[in-house]
Amino acid sequence: CGIVGYIGTEQAAPIILDGLSKLEYRGYDSAGMAIFDGEKINTRKAVGRLKVLENLTHGGENMKGTSGIGHTRWATHGAPSDINSHPHMNNAGTIAVVHNGIIENYIPLKKKMQDKGYQFVSETDTEVLAHLLDYYYKGNPLEAITKVLHRVEGSYALGIMFADQPDKIFAARKDSPLIVGKSDNGSFIASDVPAILKYTRTVYYVDNQEVVELQQGSLRFFSVDEEEIEKQPVTIDWDA
Ligand code: GLU
Repeated sequence: CGIVGYIGTEQAAPIILDGLSKLEYRGYDSAGMAIFDGEKINTRKAVGRLKVLENLTHGGENMKGTSGIGHTRWATHGAPSDINSHPHMNNAGTIAVVHNGIIENYIPLKKKMQDKGYQFVSETDTEVLAHLLDYYYKGNPLEAITKVLHRVEGSYALGIMFADQPDKIFAARKDSPLIVGKSDNGSFIASDVPAILKYTRTVYYVDNQEVVELQQGSLRFFSVDEEEIEKQPVTIDWDA
């Protein structure tokens, strides 16, 4: 399973597909991605090899946009299926989430969100994150993300995007691997270094319970209490 995200000046979909292919060794049963086209978030996802997603999107050609998040899934909750594949979205289709790991307390959280009128379409533990983000989002993504992270138990590497925050994507992690990186043309999220080594050697290891705000040319790190954290990059001097 794996996560790749990109925001910058280049087309995001081909970079994400390429990055996910470098993570295939981690194993997966389905793949998907969400790309912001300048107006809205479009998603494509499918059970099967990455090749299926590549064919569906013509190598990313028919998903235009310079920011996005992608995922390969190793199903833990909900059978491998197109619907259970990531990204998952809020009901309005304005927030997209990819997740590796397990939300241990998703059953009570799902029940609470259903009682509030949220419609679930998948059987995954992950989908509850999309609805919780929707519930807490009042225009400040960092605030919404940290509020959600305070409510969930379990492990996660996350990529998140909001349709009304077109110049940013977000990452967070706890007990699942995740790194971020920066090049002259953009900023990257990945489960592991080889996914982005072709584009940059400047990476930051995200620590447990940290949130990252990625923009073209800037990476900002925060604790789950929204305090900004100073981090030093690592220069990767090996080849994949
Ligand atoms: N628990 C999530 C699911 O089953 C994520 C699995 C993964 O790590 O890929 O959808």
